[in-house]
Amino acid sequence: MSTEKYVELENTYIGNIYHPLDVVIERAEGVWMYDVEGKRYLDCLSAYSAVSQGHCHPRLVNALVQQAQHVTLSSRAFRSDQLGPFSQQLCQMLGYDMMLPLNSGAEAVEAAVKLARKWGYEVKGVPDDQAEIIVCCGNFHGRTTTIISFSSEPKYRKHFGPLTPGFKFVTFGDMDALVDAVTPNTVAFLVEPIQGENGINVPPDGYLKFAETLCRREKMLLIADEIQVGLGRTGKMLASQHDNVRPDIVVLGKALSGGLYPVSAILADRPVMGLFNPGDHGSTFGGNPLGSAVAREALNVLVDEKLVENSALQGKRLMERLRRLESPYVKEVRGRGLLVGLEVTHEAGGARRFCEALAERGVLCKETHGTVIRFAPPLVVTSEQIDWLAEQVEAVFTQIEAQDQAQPMGMEQAIA
Ligand SMILES: *Cc1c(COP(=O)(O)O)cnc(C)c1O
Repeated sequence: MSTEKYVELENTYIGNIYHPLDVVIERAEGVWMYDVEGKRYLDCLSAYSAVSQGHCHPRLVNALVQQAQHVTLSSRAFRSDQLGPFSQQLCQMLGYDMMLPLNSGAEAVEAAVKLARKWGYEVKGVPDDQAEIIVCCGNFHGRTTTIISFSSEPKYRKHFGPLTPGFKFVTFGDMDALVDAVTPNTVAFLVEPIQGENGINVPPDGYLKFAETLCRREKMLLIADEIQVGLGRTGKMLASQHDNVRPDIVVLGKALSGGLYPVSAILADRPVMGLFNPGDHGSTFGGNPLGSAVAREALNVLVDEKLVENSALQGKRLMERLRRLESPYVKEVRGRGLLVGLEVTHEAGGARRFCEALAERGVLCKETHGTVIRFAPPLVVTSEQIDWLAEQVEAVFTQIEAQDQAQPMGMEQAIA
């Protein structure tokens, strides 16, 4: 079947919630993806950072196949020989007493919200149904009804009400605003250490440390959503570690299973996680043997292949190359490790046309927040591949500038 036919099928039969590039992927290996026409692409999205270990990592595929031949789902009504070892490994690796295994990122955020509220009522003594959680403008934590209730993006909320109350917004990076938002009923501050979907926004130095100190002083929990930035993506095991911060609750997803299978988790110490009792939360597939086996191997690969270190190294290389780009269309290059955002200027006509031009040259990127090109290749990427990527980006900027000079942009494009 042709690309057009696959696109038509998706457009015909699927609820229209995404705006994908019309590249139809057929197989993938390491940093490369191949479309149905045999064209090869360097994957610079890594499925929003889920495929950090590289596509179809042989060790992960092996773990998946082996476990699939043993047992895939026991349900939490019984125990499995995979979940205990997985939970111990994850807790020891990240230095927390306990974890809770779930499937999607949004589900884990929901669990963190419930846990923080329960802690607020039972430990802090907040009056029933009065708990407040502070969140940041421009956050992205998922798409459930409660999570969109604390999104500042009107598009995510419109016509999905009534929304869940109990959330308060502050500007990301603004320390004074955070102090002002605290009330006796505040139970937690929920934050992405770097805002991914909102355009790779790195907070000012000291912001997270300030937030941690404030949380201790005001007796509230610091919840770090590390779903996108955790597990090596930013060049540290957790992005919070750049600021020497130890969140009370860490939320993980995406790379936790290396892209083979949905696995998410929250981590906390016993005084917090210990508040959950049977019935307080649950999930049929959460912590299943198949996901646990894959996640264990995904963590092993991160360590054995020194992917956290490689992320720091290659991220630095990429950022340096991109910062050397001399183009009137480059506004800013920012990020940490292999989570790099290139923001284009207003005159550039949006990031999407750059992503489309990059796709033609064999680089798959996705624009985020309209004006930012996100570069987040699998953490197994090599220096040679980073250099090749940088060359393609340079070529695309040259090409688009030349195009626009020959033919000044129409209104349509400027608005898009
Ligand atoms: C992707 C993401 C989520 C949601 O994860 P899903 O698995 O899509 O539900 C939550 N928070 C952040 C920071 C994310 O990047």
